[in-house]
Parts: sequence; C-alpha cells; structure tokens
Amino acid sequence: MSLVVMKFGGTSVADLNCMRNAARRVKAEIDAGNRAVVAVSAMAGVTNKLIGYVSELSDLHGGCEADSIISSGEQISSGLLALALHEIDVPARSWLAWQVPIETDGAHGKARIKNIDPSNLLTCLDGGEVPIVAGFQGIDPRGRLTTLGRGGSDTSAVALAAALKADQCDIYTDVDGVYTSDPRIVTRAQKLEKVTYEEMLEMASLGARVLQTRSVELAMNQAVRLQVRSSFEDSAGTFVVDEDEIVEQQVVSGITYSRDEAKITLVGVHDRPGAAAAVFGPLANANINVDMIVQSTASDGNSTDITFTVLKTDFEGALAVIKAFGDDLTFDDILTDQDVVKVSVIGVGMRSYAGVAQKMFETLAEKGINIQVISTSEIKISVLIAEEYTELALRALHAAYQLDAP
Ligand code: ASP
Ligand code: MG
Repeated sequence: MSLVVMKFGGTSVADLNCMRNAARRVKAEIDAGNRAVVAVSAMAGVTNKLIGYVSELSDLHGGCEADSIISSGEQISSGLLALALHEIDVPARSWLAWQVPIETDGAHGKARIKNIDPSNLLTCLDGGEVPIVAGFQGIDPRGRLTTLGRGGSDTSAVALAAALKADQCDIYTDVDGVYTSDPRIVTRAQKLEKVTYEEMLEMASLGARVLQTRSVELAMNQAVRLQVRSSFEDSAGTFVVDEDEIVEQQVVSGITYSRDEAKITLVGVHDRPGAAAAVFGPLANANINVDMIVQSTASDGNSTDITFTVLKTDFEGALAVIKAFGDDLTFDDILTDQDVVKVSVIGVGMRSYAGVAQKMFETLAEKGINIQVISTSEIKISVLIAEEYTELALRALHAAYQLDAP
C-alpha cells in the first residue's frame, strides 16, 4: 500500500463536473489499495478574480488582509472536493492550512513553508477519511493566513508529500506531462517519460509553466518523486526523478521560451572599477532581479556598454532606479527593448558533450536570427532574440537537437 499525494490544479477543479472527475481519480487511487492525501488549487480563474478585488480596492498588495482574501479560493475547492467524494461514498475531510497546520514565515504573498506537522492528517487517514488540503495557504507565526506565491499549491503538495513521507506526489493538470517544447508552437514536441529535477527546475524557471519553480526545488531537496499527469486522460505522465534513474540521457531534453523579460542597455557608461556594482547594486536593493548580462568595453578602454534583462513587470521600476543614479555613474544613453524573447536549451547531457552551444548558434544563424545576449549554466544555454522569431527559433532548434517526433 502506497501513500500518494494527489494535487489538482485550477483547471482540474474548474467546475463541478471537473470536481466530480477529480473525485473519481481519488476514488480510483483508493480502490487500487493506496492511501491518498489531496491538495487543491482554487477553481480556475478564482484567484485572479480575488486579486482583482484586492487591487481595485487598495494599494496594499501582498499584505495580510490580501492573503486572507486570495487564499479563500482554495477553501472553496477543498470543501467542494470533499463533498464530491462523499457523493461517491468516499469519506473525505477538508483541511485549511491552519488546521493542519502548515506553518510559514510571515512574508505575505510569497511565504515559505517552515514546517508541516503531519500528525493530524495521519490521524484523519487512519480514521478512514481522505484529507483534502487547501493548497497555496499557510499560517504565519502570528497566526495570520499567508499565501505561497502564484502557482503555490504545487509547493503545498510537494511539502505535504515530504512531511508525510509519501511514496509519490502526482500533480494533476490540464496537460498530460512535460514536453520537449511547447506543443502549441512546436507541433512535433514529444512528451518526456522522465526528466531530471535539475532539468525541470531550469524548465520551470525558463518558461515552461507546468510546475511552480519552488515546488521543483523542494522536490529535489527532499527527494520527492513527482509525476505531472493529466486529470482528463489515463496515460502515464512525466516523472521528475534523479539523474541516475534515467538510462538513455538525451544531450538536450527541452527547449523553452519566455516572453517575460525586457532588455535595457546603458550606452557609454564611464568605465572604472565598480561600474557594474554601481548599476546592479541599486537594482538589487530595489528587489529587482537581473537575469542576463553583457558588458563590452570600448576599444579606448574608457567607456563600456552594459546590457541586461529584467522581468517586464520590473521594467518601469528598473528605469526609475537608473534615472535616480547620481554622480556615481554617468552614461550617454539608455536603450530599451521589450519585444524580445529568451529561448533556452536545457539538458544535463550538456555536461558531458561539447558543441551544444555551437549547434544553437549555428542553427539560429542559418535562419538569420540575431543573438542579442547569451547566458549559460552547466545545463542550459539561453539566448535573447527578437520576439518575432520565437516560433522559427523553437522549431529550428527542436529539429536541430533531434527532438522532433517521428
Ligand atoms: N490558486 C493559486 C494561483 O492561482 C495557487 C495555485 O493555483 O497553485 O496562483
Ligand atoms: Mg498551477
């Protein structure tokens, strides 16, 4: 008998029919002789609606009242799913975060889970009831409700699986797994049977929107076996596993893209030791994350161009910070471009194969696509290109790395 954490995302509980479908999934797990603990998201669209109310009424985002409002979508889902289970004769009980409890820090809107005491849930299971836990929520040291950031119910599910020492954490969603690229753009994208934690972590943070990045980090650290699978189809999904579980490792496992970044260039920065620190220090202090960076010094050695990217949501903030630079940093001009896309190829196989970057650059060159910024890590290469080439670049790279479905 296994203990499985089953997480249902917003589209999997979007309406009462979906709730009934999710309930049947839970029943099937139990009929198979397993024990299940369920984590739920708010019904699709509900969290957005609640956030809309908050921002229309007040500038106080990310505060404690906001969290009490936007966490309520998950309360509704957990109650409804428990009722749907009762209707098919499966005893179930809803659990809000404070009832478990799921303890977090006090960072409203982006709280981190500190501790989950599994004993109440285990007692519930022993009593023959399926616990249905409201995801996305926590309770802080002052006893106030918190939320874990958008998409945070994935993290709730993984944290529950870790605390319960579950055998597996199944993330039920509206796609049937993790693909080599976005199937809406790359029609020959293939479903991956397995992907490593590290690759999934890169994919999640580089634009594949199947899992919240933090949930993958947690799964990796706690060795939680994850599966991403469809609520609506029976096929096996994609397993997120340790590298040594994958026998035939591809050099590249996935190609992602993100339109979330904007490019800023400071032209003719007066070059001296400390110039980069003078740019990026104030941005960091303003909580603005800088992603890709290139700096090139003019041949006279006196001035330098610094190009970097920030999230589009931080773009205006970044410009404000730059405009407030004092005499510490002088430059000739600011150039900006929001019509850019970051395309990344990801694969742990890159560690042992040379020439992966070269293939990327050649493939893009053949298509006449100019690379504006490059950044790399051990298992990924990202390039910034003009947004209009997104489709062309993804399809060409997918073919070049032999990921196309036969
Ligand atoms: N309902 C929350 C959101 O929309 C949490 C989640 O779906 O994971 O962000
Ligand atoms: Mg989600």
